[in-house]
Amino acid sequence: MEEASKQNQRICKKCLLRDMPEGEYFHNMYDYIAHLDPEVKTDSEEYEARLAVCKACDRLMNGMCKVCGCFVEMRAAVKKNKCPAPEHYW
Ligand code: SF4
Repeated sequence: MEEASKQNQRICKKCLLRDMPEGEYFHNMYDYIAHLDPEVKTDSEEYEARLAVCKACDRLMNGMCKVCGCFVEMRAAVKKNKCPAPEHYW
């Protein structure tokens, strides 16, 4: 019985955001960022610089970039990514 209950609470890794409990997707996103391979992860100084640019950008809305639809914290965390605006702000 307890095992069945645990299985019901297990999060499907292929779930859409709307299928996850409220707030769970943010936890998953930060967990993903925290465990990125150091070879692909943006260093913390560059990461904060990128997010500072996003925070001042009029295309930021609710943590998402209106150009690409990404959560900017996720996009900025990957070193090879660029700002998707034609101007490439970072
Ligand atoms: S356009 Fe670039 S700087 Fe602006 S929110 Fe999107 S990713 Fe950030």
